[in-house]
Amino acid sequence: MLDLPRARDRMVNIHVGRRGIHDREILQAMREVPREAFVEPGFEEFAYEDTPLPIADGQTISQPYIVAFMIEMADVKPGDHVLEIGTGSGYAAAVMSRIVEQVYTIERHPGLAEAAKRRFEKLGYQNIEVRTGDGTKGWPQAAPFDAIVVTASGPGAPLALQEQLDVGSRLVIPVGDDPDLQRLLKVTRTGAATYSEEDFGGVRFVPLIGEQGWSENGTATDVGRPLRHPHPISLPDMIAAAAEPLPDFDDPAFGALFDRFADRRIVLLGEASHGTSEFYRARAAITRRLIERHGFTIVAVEADWPDAAAIDRYVRHRRPRTGTGAPFLRFPTWMWRNTDVAAFTDWMRRHNEKLEPSAQAGFYGLDIYNMSGSIGAVLDYLDRVDPQAAKIARERYGCLTPWQHDPSTYGRAVLTAGYQKCEKAVLEQCRDLLAKQLEYAKRDGTDFLDASQNARLIASAEHYYRIMYYGGAESWNLRDTHMFETLEHLLHAGGPNAKAVVWAHNSHIGDARFTEMGVVRDE
Ligand code: SAM
Repeated sequence: MLDLPRARDRMVNIHVGRRGIHDREILQAMREVPREAFVEPGFEEFAYEDTPLPIADGQTISQPYIVAFMIEMADVKPGDHVLEIGTGSGYAAAVMSRIVEQVYTIERHPGLAEAAKRRFEKLGYQNIEVRTGDGTKGWPQAAPFDAIVVTASGPGAPLALQEQLDVGSRLVIPVGDDPDLQRLLKVTRTGAATYSEEDFGGVRFVPLIGEQGWSENGTATDVGRPLRHPHPISLPDMIAAAAEPLPDFDDPAFGALFDRFADRRIVLLGEASHGTSEFYRARAAITRRLIERHGFTIVAVEADWPDAAAIDRYVRHRRPRTGTGAPFLRFPTWMWRNTDVAAFTDWMRRHNEKLEPSAQAGFYGLDIYNMSGSIGAVLDYLDRVDPQAAKIARERYGCLTPWQHDPSTYGRAVLTAGYQKCEKAVLEQCRDLLAKQLEYAKRDGTDFLDASQNARLIASAEHYYRIMYYGGAESWNLRDTHMFETLEHLLHAGGPNAKAVVWAHNSHIGDARFTEMGVVRDE
């Protein structure tokens, strides 16, 4: 069952409040208006995602945050008379109607205007007047307005709308001729014939089509008073200013450019798309340099531990584990089962050939998804070092057997159908194995590290799949914490001088305090 009031509250707190909208009246109005009543049938479950959604006539209901942002920019207050151009679903008008005295809203598509009217009637919102027509000409009979909000983007701010502002009143409008990026402007009438203008940055809206907007074929009609369009420095410009030219990565001079990171304990090599072949080769060239010249011995990647462990055995000339399938057969196989990774691991193997085991470079996985592989690895290890303990571990991990091949169904079964929770069993198993570290590791420290990491992974994965069912940030944070702790264990096992190169998505290694992940989603 969808808990829409809860989702609405969450949307207001997280997507609106935490992104800097603090106006209590706007937040309260958004808590009151049921956005699910304004989306198309079938889209209700997405009503509280912070995203625009399609509505009839090829139009959109705007993203909740942008609705709040525009209303805040328009600085609407109780008692105000407000004009909206672009009724669409009616949602923004409904939100404003909970704050001001009267909302006038114009929509060019009659079907949308009628549907919005019906929604307002059903919800008992009586202070909204809807009209079908060209909103670029405004609503002269009801002017002047305390604020005008335009929810479609025009070539400029229509003169008619500017003239229908009271002195001191605000017009908020997206403008620009790029269909993918416009600027959000606030025009304030400062006197009988004077206006000031502020730019609130990049936005994306459907076009404002009308006499003082765009024509149906996309050309500008009568733009009205010309506006200054300041061009702030763009993201590509900022990247260009920070970028340094690199030689081809097969050129020895390429690796030398990364010597500046030689003294770091951890070098994080991120990416946003899992990369192209060129990216994989560049990353390998940087890593080779750090291993060869600067004493890095840990390559820790966003891959599952037991799968990476098979590669680690290969690159360090250890015997393969028997009875296990080939690694990296799970989606996305192309991420690690590709020729560029193979070339890199072959290089690692050659590099390690003449080195003492303690000086060899290893290949490790930080991720938690291959729970069944880890269960197999722990049992295999205990069968060899402590058959009695293996028997107990088999019983404990047996709890997870029904879910091993589709662990994502485990959380749902436990939480909704009352299946036995396996938390206690997997934690006890992990604790027992770690308690025997001194005894077990005497035989082979590397094997013990592998087994203990697998036992940790099973405990993390059990928890992960259980809370994943709820969605939200908790499961993401658990997975990231597991990856971070795995890196810590690797560094700890490698001793005080151990140095690591990490290959992972930016979402794991970037600083979430500066992205929506952290600021908005608590990740
Ligand atoms: N405020 C709407 C909501 O909350 O659902 C979202 C509006 S949608 C982004 C923009 C709307 O502007 C579309 O429905 C489009 O048909 C309308 N529109 C475009 N040009 C218009 C014009 N000249 N007059 C009135 N409506 C217009």
